[in-house]
Amino acid sequence: MARNEVCDYMGWGLYRYLIIGIIWLISSGAAALELTGVLTQGGLLIGRVAPDTEVELMQRSVRVGKDGLFVFGLGRDTPPSIELVTRNSHGETESHRLAVTQREYNEQRVNGVPQKTVTPPPEVLERIRREAVLVKNARGDDSRSLDFLSGFAMPLEGPITGVYGSRRVYNGKPGRPHFGLDIAAPTGTEVYAPAPGVVKLVHDDMFYSGGTLIVDHGHGVSSSFIHLSEVIAEPGQRVEAGDLIARVGSTGRATGPHLDWRINWFDVRLDPALVLESFPSVTGALGLSANSPDLKSR
Ligand SMILES: [Zn+2]
Repeated sequence: MARNEVCDYMGWGLYRYLIIGIIWLISSGAAALELTGVLTQGGLLIGRVAPDTEVELMQRSVRVGKDGLFVFGLGRDTPPSIELVTRNSHGETESHRLAVTQREYNEQRVNGVPQKTVTPPPEVLERIRREAVLVKNARGDDSRSLDFLSGFAMPLEGPITGVYGSRRVYNGKPGRPHFGLDIAAPTGTEVYAPAPGVVKLVHDDMFYSGGTLIVDHGHGVSSSFIHLSEVIAEPGQRVEAGDLIARVGSTGRATGPHLDWRINWFDVRLDPALVLESFPSVTGALGLSANSPDLKSR
């Protein structure tokens, strides 16, 4: 978050190594399961099964589109082995064991955030709870949209000052891990939609996240943009990749102006840097993608 903090650009070498093996074809008998993405903590996986097949991941039902397309994400602490179950239209069930690469997360000390955001006073706890419900609902939509298939691009250009998964210590007090990709930029810098979608939440000032915008990319995949000085997109609005949606700020629990961009699969928090690398945008907002020199140099 703070631009002067030591940053933990862990795992880039690992990603590159893994990307080579990005496509798995797991077929057994008649039922074929195809997965694209990186089977690692924080990864987004896009899959395909025969139409009318049901998919369940770790006992959670996954929406399957009409072409047999589905998507799921792996959280920061996903165990090394997970189960994906498919059930075809004849009721035949198959269990697939997927090996998930485990990551190491560094620690990042962030000093100088408003002390009230480290130890919230009792009178704001109700507000925090209420805002958490708004965010949860905005990320909970299981829409039919396949916007996530367009891939993702960087929402703006700037130095990366915070990465996914790091353990955070705020003003000396251990807090929750960091789940976003922090991109430093002056207040007012334009933020562009990294992928098409529909605006699910606009909020001027949430306690932790300040100016907040959430965009749904379909099948539970969403982007959140926080600490904004201004939200330009409106609730319910359809946005295309590259549309101006907001401006950078330092609202909420922040030490300086930056964009904190998050990607979720429902409540599961994914690694935006990894998603960018796995699914670079076809069109590319600003022409920025995972190949942006800023990311490549890390
Ligand atoms: Zn952040």
